[in-house]
Amino acid sequence: MPETAPSPASRIVFPEPGSKAEVEEGDLFMPRFDRDGLVTCVTVDAGDGRVLMVAHMNAESLARTVETGEAWYWSRSRGELWRKGATSGQTQRVLEMRTDCDQDAVLITVAVGGDGGCCHTGRRACFYRTVALDRETGQVRLRLAGE
Ligand SMILES: [Zn+2]
Repeated sequence: MPETAPSPASRIVFPEPGSKAEVEEGDLFMPRFDRDGLVTCVTVDAGDGRVLMVAHMNAESLARTVETGEAWYWSRSRGELWRKGATSGQTQRVLEMRTDCDQDAVLITVAVGGDGGCCHTGRRACFYRTVALDRETGQVRLRLAGE
C-alpha cells in the first residue's frame, strides 16, 4: 500500500492568496487551491527536461514536498496522500519547485529513483500518445509517440 501518513502532519501553513500584486510579484508562496483544495503539479525530469507527469497536490502534500524534498501528491481517485515511489521505488527527489504567475500550479524538477520512470503503465512518462484529428472519419485518434 502507498505510504499514507507517516511522520506527523506538516506544520507549514500557507497564507491565503493576497492581492494580485502580492501573488504575482511578492516573495511569499501563497498557493491558490481550487475548490477541491488542490493545485496542479507538473513534474519534469532534471536529466533531460522531459515532462513526466501531471498530478495534484493538496496543502498537506505540497507542504511535505517542500519540507522533505520528496514529491508527495494527492490521489483524487483514491482520496489519499501519496508519496511518489513508496511502492514502485520511482521516488522523485525535488531539485527545484516553481510556481506560476497566479500560484495555482507548481512545476517541480526531479531526480527520479528506481528505474527512472513514473507512469503506472510501465512507461517512463505519462504523455506517451499524440492526439490528432483523423479528417476522413472525423474521429480524434491517439497514437503512440516515440520516446
Ligand atoms: Zn502515467
